Amino acid sequence: MIFLKATPAAVKKAAASIRKGGTVVFPTETVYGLGADALNPLAVARIFEIKKRPEFDPLIVHVASIRQAKALAFVTPKAEALMKKFWPGPLTLVLPKKKKVPDLVTAGLDTVALRMPADPVALALIKRARTPVAAPSANRFGRLSPTTAAHAKKQLKNGPDVILDGGKTRIGVESAVLLLKGRRASLLRHGGLTLEEIEKATGPLAAGPDGGKKPRSPGRLAGHYSPSAKLVLLGKRKFRFKKGLRYGYLAFTKKPALKIKCAAVLSPSGSLQEAAAGLFSHLHRLDEAGVDVILAEPVPQRGLGRAIMDRLKRAAGKPLK
Ligand code: AMP
Ligand code: MG
Repeated sequence: MIFLKATPAAVKKAAASIRKGGTVVFPTETVYGLGADALNPLAVARIFEIKKRPEFDPLIVHVASIRQAKALAFVTPKAEALMKKFWPGPLTLVLPKKKKVPDLVTAGLDTVALRMPADPVALALIKRARTPVAAPSANRFGRLSPTTAAHAKKQLKNGPDVILDGGKTRIGVESAVLLLKGRRASLLRHGGLTLEEIEKATGPLAAGPDGGKKPRSPGRLAGHYSPSAKLVLLGKRKFRFKKGLRYGYLAFTKKPALKIKCAAVLSPSGSLQEAAAGLFSHLHRLDEAGVDVILAEPVPQRGLGRAIMDRLKRAAGKPLK
């Protein structure tokens, strides 16, 4: 494994590795991804192995142009309008797939998830590799997502061939996932592009990700995004401390009056952008402090707050509402 600062020369090296069937950790504006040539099933298999990800969980394929997306999926005029409006950016579109996409990438589904990332390092890497890049988040399956190269290295150890360090990611939560099938559009995952922004373009969506009983997108399981410590999402009910356990606290705008040693504040000014950007970093830090339990305050369920609450609820292992 080589760990490189994401200079143009390093991106060139990483792209060469992808062309040869290697795996590369790279920054996107959402979280770090673990990428491989999406058209090479052996390379894609390495992603599942390194992440210990079950094969029923499909990957997002990253492209550098709408033309590249059209080679992989059937793109309706409505889908193309969304690409033109929101790409590059934190919106993943799930579309009927073309034969060319290996089954391992889509977990055997007849749809494929596509996104054009906005981070210049990610775009340069995909362009240089001259192939679409399948990339889930660069963490061990079910664990906290990485928003720095160091987070990815810590979890994946020497698994990837190259790690590109491009600093802290800007948005900090994963992309929104929108299914476009037939005439229907439905949101499968809240993410970096907010529901409000999406609905401004699409009109009201049929159902949100928390509408049904079952997770309708594979891999959207309760117990995802988990720190090593137990996470408790604070609610209306009073919380009781147990003796002998070490507690950490994740506050939204200000530290709690309680005497807790490890407390983190997501955003003193109450900005949901700032809260999203720091969410995983704070959770990584609380974990590293060795606490047994992390108490997390809820954030307002609007804008990026929906994605933050989705991650916190899943980290707490709560079933979907
Ligand atoms: P990750 O890249 O780790 O953030 O995970 C990608 C997520 O995208 C998966 O866990 C699914 O929830 C979703 N996804 C990818 N492909 C599809 C698909 N074909 N249909 C529905 N959801 C998908
Ligand atoms: Mg993930």
